Amino acid sequence: MDILDFHTHRTDADRAIISVDPHEFAPEPGKWYSVGFHPWSDLEALGEEDFALLEQCASHPQVLTIGETGLDSLRGAPLDIQETSFARHLCLAASVGKPVVVHSVRTAQRILAVKRATGCQVPLAIHGMRGNEHVARLLLDADCYLSFGIRFNPAALRITPLDRMLIETDEHPAAISEVAAAVASEKGLSSKELMELTAANIRRFTAYSTY
Ligand SMILES: [Zn+2]
Repeated sequence: MDILDFHTHRTDADRAIISVDPHEFAPEPGKWYSVGFHPWSDLEALGEEDFALLEQCASHPQVLTIGETGLDSLRGAPLDIQETSFARHLCLAASVGKPVVVHSVRTAQRILAVKRATGCQVPLAIHGMRGNEHVARLLLDADCYLSFGIRFNPAALRITPLDRMLIETDEHPAAISEVAAAVASEKGLSSKELMELTAANIRRFTAYSTY
């Protein structure tokens, strides 16, 4: 497994974890996936059969992570509904032994509070990390990995340890090599060094039974 792009929605991406809704999960050979109900999706319409489908997809061997799930204070369903969905993803992830890809927009404290409240022990990676260094510190102190795209807060990236850093394209058309170059120059590394580091971080994150 040699994955560079921790999080994308492009289903044709290579060396990437492709994030899909369980209803769109159609695994192709040689590709890796994350499954979950995005906090922007119509969470209020989800029923038990949808969560049963999620559960079924979650144990598929090509599914490495659960999500993206999480909280968005600017968009999507009311926050209490988002919290219920997020909590269910966390507990499902714990039960299948896979880590979680988290979407968080101005909700870092709540993300950690919901996780504490569930009591479910799973590693989290905050994807699309754009928060400042205070938000980064809070998340790093709670053992989260942070995934950076083409746009990020340089101070937050600077305080992120090399073994907790991931890179991603998400929905942006930039190639992962462009993201790697931008993140590498901020960290004083070559693109090659950065890609090796982040690939190793993805391997460690997705093999979290040894976490
Ligand atoms: Zn995404």
